[in-house]
Amino acid sequence: MKPTNKIALITGASRGLGRNTAIHLARGGTDVILTYHSNQREADSAVAEIVALGRKAVAFKLDTGNVGAFGDFVKQVRQSLSEIWGRDRFDFLVNNAGTSHHAPFDKTTEEELDGLYRVHFKGVFFLTQKLLPLINDGGRIVMISSGLTRIIVPESAPYASMKGAIEVLTRYLAKELGPRRIAVNVVAPGAIATDFSGGAVRDNPELNKRVAGMTALGRVGEPDDIGPMIASLLSEDNRWVNAQRIEVSGGMSI
Ligand code: NDP
Repeated sequence: MKPTNKIALITGASRGLGRNTAIHLARGGTDVILTYHSNQREADSAVAEIVALGRKAVAFKLDTGNVGAFGDFVKQVRQSLSEIWGRDRFDFLVNNAGTSHHAPFDKTTEEELDGLYRVHFKGVFFLTQKLLPLINDGGRIVMISSGLTRIIVPESAPYASMKGAIEVLTRYLAKELGPRRIAVNVVAPGAIATDFSGGAVRDNPELNKRVAGMTALGRVGEPDDIGPMIASLLSEDNRWVNAQRIEVSGGMSI
């Protein structure tokens, strides 16, 4: 595949949907800066997989819920852009990193809600803000929400509310970044078989069957249903898509 001369920064790309997106972007000719939280082995193997595809890649450790660490992270990104690519900007930001949470509204603690807020909203807000000067004009930003902002599933109120906030932020950013020709969209996956939620969608046969039963296409989602879609959203063909929530769920609960 011909190189696109584009660089994507993807958070939480050591595993799951972020990694799948990174691999599909790399297959299409895009280089990748990826982050991981604690799983360096998986991050290193993601980098090796991208390099084997003929693209450049580097991985940095980052807790996207720790805004205090973002200054140093931005310095690392700046330095890697200069040393690896001889550039000072990248093209695509995919805010993907995230953790699950399941609890009824009346049992959710302040600590749990703050934890979700830090990773799923505050971190995304300030990481995007701090990386903005490093994103090329004409670049793109993809946020990751969830089908759960539309489909009401028990014990998902705190998590889904944070994802709802990201959908609102997406539209505001699309407006504010329009003058720089940066398109901002939000992808909302349905239930996908990754390590998320302790791998429940993948490993719990009862849940897997239930999700398949409520999905028009008759099965749960796989990472390969999401990564190529995000890579395609970031392609030239989709340059005019902006400020959209795009659900990628095989038609869950329709
Ligand atoms: P996984 O659990 O498979 O992977 C999570 C990734 O995020 C890993 O790379 C992990 O790093 C990283 N990560 C976790 N916490 C942090 C943190 N505090 N700071 C930085 N990185 C972190 O999850 P998925 O790939 O399934 O989920 C990716 C995104 O998609 C999330 O935002 C999730 O909310 C969303 N989503 C997932 C759905 C699903 O059914 N799977 C459905 C809808 C939305 P490490 O490997 O180091 O732990």
